[in-house]
Amino acid sequence: MESRPTILVIDDEPANIEIVSAVLEEDYDICFALSGEQALEVAHASRPDLILLDVVMPGMDGYQLCRLLKADPQLCDVPVIFATALGDDEAELRGLAVGAIDYVTKPIRPATLQRRVRNHVQMKRMRDQLAEQALRDPLTGLANRRALERRLQAELHRQAREGGLIAVLMLDIDHFKGFNDTYGHPEGDVCLRAVAQALAASIRRSGDLCARYGGEEFACILPGTDLDGALHLAETMRAGVMALGIAHAASTAAPVVTVSIGVAAGRCDMGGTNDLWLTGADRMLYRSKIAGRNRVSGQVMAREEEDRATPRAGAAG
Ligand code: GH3
Ligand code: MG
Ligand code: MG
Repeated sequence: MESRPTILVIDDEPANIEIVSAVLEEDYDICFALSGEQALEVAHASRPDLILLDVVMPGMDGYQLCRLLKADPQLCDVPVIFATALGDDEAELRGLAVGAIDYVTKPIRPATLQRRVRNHVQMKRMRDQLAEQALRDPLTGLANRRALERRLQAELHRQAREGGLIAVLMLDIDHFKGFNDTYGHPEGDVCLRAVAQALAASIRRSGDLCARYGGEEFACILPGTDLDGALHLAETMRAGVMALGIAHAASTAAPVVTVSIGVAAGRCDMGGTNDLWLTGADRMLYRSKIAGRNRVSGQVMAREEEDRATPRAGAAG
């Protein structure tokens, strides 16, 4: 069941907060703040679905606060409704200009407030849902390629100066075309789901990400992991997929479904792009494929990756 939406009410006058709460508390969880400064704290802690904001407040006023909210990457998606004095057209315009989605006029009319809040909360929830769907693969439930590319870019950017460790894995099901040809496409889909689950179950750290990269290819990002750690996890994944014991009569690698894995590991400070890391992992995947499939290969990425990459093979199977 969907959780009850949370509304943050910001007003320097406690009596106003009580009036608004009385109107909305039946359908929403209400939190409140008595100043702009306090509002930023409460907003970060409670992650509201909507903010109801008084324009006139001592210290930081509603416009200033709204600008800050809209500039905050974690809060900019939260719709803000301004509460303005009846007939103050200029206040309404200014509110909308700084990013408010709507306004209500004081004194508050309960039915209007309820209706506007409901409309905007509904739209916010729909936007959240679409944003979440845009980053998920519907067949397996894993993150999709877009989510993976986004995370990799953010991780490389975040760690660029500190030069933290990162490992990228590329995984590909062996002879999957033959699997589809033998057992049919719907069985292929069942197999993809089972493999996805096995891979996701191998992930232990909260910062790790496992994604369906496309077709029968998967990819993982392991921040803070060196080559040895990544090879170890990759081997766990390889063995985990094999242990599913899904019959695969068309495979030359094993009588069951298997994956080949490539690992690229190193430090984030080499100015590398997503492409460099994914290509590095892909090259190692190719090495695993030509070496007989159902195995893991890895390399350390270095500044002149072409010249100095040191391949390492973790044979298996
Ligand atoms: P290799 O061992 O070299 O990786 O061979 P392969 O047959 O796995 O590789 P290839 O790229 O030739 O074929 C990939 C196959 O994956 C072909 C395609 O039909 C299948 N595939 C891709 N996406 C899906 C999907 O969503 N569902 C199913 N059932 N099959 C898919
Ligand atoms: Mg493939
Ligand atoms: Mg394949």
